Amino acid sequence: DKLKEGLAKTRDSLTDKFNEVFGLAVTIDDDLYDELEEVLITSDVGYETSVDIIERLKKKVRTEHISDVALLKDAMRDVLAEYMESEEPFDTTGPMVILVIGVNGVGKTTSIGKLAHKYRADGKKVILAAADTFRAAAIDQLEIWAKRAGVEIVKHQEGSDPAAVVFDAVQAFKARKADVLICDTAGRLHNKKNLMNELEKINRVIDREIGDARKYSMIVLDGTTGQNAIVQAREFKSVTNLDGIILTKLDGTAKGGVVFSIKQTLDLPVLYIGVGEGIDDLQEFDPKAFAQVVI
Ligand code: GDP
Repeated sequence: DKLKEGLAKTRDSLTDKFNEVFGLAVTIDDDLYDELEEVLITSDVGYETSVDIIERLKKKVRTEHISDVALLKDAMRDVLAEYMESEEPFDTTGPMVILVIGVNGVGKTTSIGKLAHKYRADGKKVILAAADTFRAAAIDQLEIWAKRAGVEIVKHQEGSDPAAVVFDAVQAFKARKADVLICDTAGRLHNKKNLMNELEKINRVIDREIGDARKYSMIVLDGTTGQNAIVQAREFKSVTNLDGIILTKLDGTAKGGVVFSIKQTLDLPVLYIGVGEGIDDLQEFDPKAFAQVVI
């Protein structure tokens, strides 16, 4: 299926290595655990996460009295799935305003377009807000995606106040009784003070104006950058509130293992994953399905 296809490169690295280790294993011992840990570490899972995952696996083996190597693989799959699961599943019912954050090039515009398409396909009324007013190209690109997804867009001129765009968009969202408003934002991480002020102002407008709708702040991270994506998210987390992650370009990378460390290191759920450039190539993140595909 699509997930399997999209994760082909990650499967080439992670899954093949897992299969090799499990295939040769005879008994469950420290050597085997070390080898599994090595597979995780070399697949961009991150050192601490890898150690933690293996600890959990050992605990599971002890408490469930697993002695058969063949069953260890299932246990590993369960541990990985549990590792990525979040306590509160992402709830898309009812009106919501989604603020999308992330540096240029990570796939922010594309992800907004895909999200708009997905929600529209679910029968929701969607509006986009072009609040990355820093670059004219960003507004144009978002407009192209709005057309593609068949949704409305609220925009001002390049250089205008992003908070003013968001204000108008929230008014449109309320007046037209839309279900989802997705706001693009500028991703200038190198100018932290400006970015912080801009996001603060946008957040203030949303919080003041949205009424009963819920607000989600999603950060878009480029999966091909592996552990660096986590560093980037930390930076953003230090300047603004974040509720979840859209992890893009998993189709183009063998670094899909980064998914496992995100929850532990950032304490944020992965909500969606990008597995291609097309409008349909965004999937709701399903920890069980993901674990099933990679091991
Ligand atoms: P932005 O600057 O963050 O808005 O980035 P864009 O949305 O313009 O995307 C940058 C590039 O990444 C474009 O060429 C997209 O087609 C590509 N891209 C975005 N998401 C994905 C994905 O999930 N998979 C692949 N293969 N490419 C993607």
